[in-house]
Amino acid sequence: LHARQPIIAGNWKLNPSSIQEADGLAKGVASLLGDETCASSSAADCTEVVVFPPFPFISSVVDDLAGVGVGVGAQSIFHTAESGAYTGAVSASMVTSLGCQYVLCGHSERRTVFKDDDEAINKKVLKVIEDGMRPVLCIGETEEEYDAGLCADVCKLQLAKDLAGVSAAAMKDVVIAYEPVWAIGTGKVCPCDVAQTVHKTIRDYLAELYDRSTADAVRIQYGGSVTPESVDELMAQPDIDGCLVGGASLVAEKFARICNFVR
Ligand code: PEP
Repeated sequence: LHARQPIIAGNWKLNPSSIQEADGLAKGVASLLGDETCASSSAADCTEVVVFPPFPFISSVVDDLAGVGVGVGAQSIFHTAESGAYTGAVSASMVTSLGCQYVLCGHSERRTVFKDDDEAINKKVLKVIEDGMRPVLCIGETEEEYDAGLCADVCKLQLAKDLAGVSAAAMKDVVIAYEPVWAIGTGKVCPCDVAQTVHKTIRDYLAELYDRSTADAVRIQYGGSVTPESVDELMAQPDIDGCLVGGASLVAEKFARICNFVR
């Protein structure tokens, strides 16, 4: 039995380009999930599968996956207000009402392209929890930081800032995704032993911020160029509890194979 329930998530980013393709991808994934995913198993350690479509496709993908046992999440939410004069914003309550269970917070593309800083990310995390959903908090260092030996320091600082005000009790609903920025969309997978070491560092730091049993219960995903070829070895590491998948989550066969990782 896995110590923590595995969780594989697909971040579709700004893809695909039509609702028809989004429905096709969701149904394709659902049709290929194996016996050890929660799509066909009710075991306590069945692999939880979640997809993060763009906002306009969420409702339809929720319908596509109704009764299938695959979760749906939002790629971000607006953190400043629940309603009002905020053109273009999407609130936590809106995505909750569509059936979302998870929200990505702090993805590196949000940090760089959309200038989400740690204060904004912290507000998003708190808002998601307040609305009864689960944040997937993405953290990770850049290539320069990695080369300078700053990986652990960067991850710890992001955790401390992004989790400020989150109670130990609420941590059971928080998923951490360690995503070295230099491995996202680059085809460079972090070596498994390096990823395991960072995951252990993250867990030990959560034990400092909270306590050992809270830290031991938190699921930590690895993200960064995960493929069907790399998933099995990654998932065999003791502190890697799942994967956050970008590019490979857009091809049903590849994503399903990742979800059906060999245990
Ligand atoms: C991501 O977007 O979180 C990600 C890890 O992307 P990719 O798998 O394409 O590297």
